[in-house]
Amino acid sequence: MNMVEANNLMAAGLRGELRLREPMARHTSWRAGGAAERAYFPADLDDLAAFLRALPAEEMVHMTGLGSNLLVRDGGLRGTVIFTHWALRGVGLESPGGIRAEAGVASPKIARFAALNELAGAEFLAGIPGTVGGALAMNAGCYGGETWEIVAEVTTIDRSGSPRKRTRDDYEIAYRHVRLKSEGRSDEVGRKAEEWFVAATFRLRHGPGAESRGKITELLKRRIATQPLGEPNAGSVFRNPEGDYAARLIEACGLKGRVIGGAQISEKHANFIVNIGRARAADIEALIRLAEGTVKEKFGVALEREVRIVGDA
Ligand SMILES: Cc1cc2nc3c(=O)[nH]c(=O)nc-3n(C[C@H](O)[C@H](O)[C@H](O)COP(=O)(O)OP(=O)(O)OC[C@H]3O[C@@H](n4cnc5c(N)ncnc54)[C@H](O)[C@@H]3O)c2cc1C
Repeated sequence: MNMVEANNLMAAGLRGELRLREPMARHTSWRAGGAAERAYFPADLDDLAAFLRALPAEEMVHMTGLGSNLLVRDGGLRGTVIFTHWALRGVGLESPGGIRAEAGVASPKIARFAALNELAGAEFLAGIPGTVGGALAMNAGCYGGETWEIVAEVTTIDRSGSPRKRTRDDYEIAYRHVRLKSEGRSDEVGRKAEEWFVAATFRLRHGPGAESRGKITELLKRRIATQPLGEPNAGSVFRNPEGDYAARLIEACGLKGRVIGGAQISEKHANFIVNIGRARAADIEALIRLAEGTVKEKFGVALEREVRIVGDA
């Protein structure tokens, strides 16, 4: 985007906040990485729609939640990062047994809100420190629960700014994988068609709130016991391969505790990489590659990344 286009954007009557060279280390749970060329914090859904409409067609867009599954390389991110969690924060009941939440709501809030309203089935979201949008994009899950198992409907938005309702049938959904079935068509600048989540309706079953609260407490206790929550991290770095655990394989390679620069393969959980002080994204990525290479060499298993790595080295 050139200066004229940037000025036009700001003259478009937008009510959100546009920042230049925004350090993404402030917005990712790894607390590492480069800056986004531009970052936009919409004021609300209408403002987000107006911003998307006003963007030059070739501008890259990175819709972002709480950055809890994201590594931005040290060279930074071209284009505009849009943050949902400042604005898209609405959550409410929808009868019967439904909760409608906007994309920027924190996933643990859905778990608590459901329990408060005697709705069961969303407890697992208590342990996932991202937004509803991120959980939809990742099909986030744990302890036997997965986001899309409880989704009845989502609302999406594209560059035209018009909201669209979609159901599970519109998506290809698997373990930590979600893709629009119609994806693959390209827009006029040759980019894959883009559509982002702005809200979801969760369909839950009625169940005693006390039982849900008990499950949430239990789940959080287990996390505190097994995960390095005191150090910046992005959860599991790799998906678990069929019938095995990435952590077991990494540990069996003798990599637990391995340090590169300011990053370390966690001593507590080998599928976590922690920032032990001023880690660069390159340190984290080097450990990711080391784990991939060593596990492949020793066990013939190609680890697949769960974390998303974006930007320029
Ligand atoms: C301590 C810890 C524990 C974790 N435990 C788990 C776990 O048990 N299970 C699990 O699945 N994950 C876990 N995670 C990973 C992470 O929390 C989840 O993937 C979460 O759903 C990401 O949400 P986010 O808002 O932070 O997304 P971001 O990290 O901001 O983004 C992740 C991806 O989603 C896309 N995205 C974000 N918002 C939208 C939107 N509105 N529309 C379209 N795309 C969007 C982004 O473009 C990006 O590709 C853990 C992370 C941490 C730090």
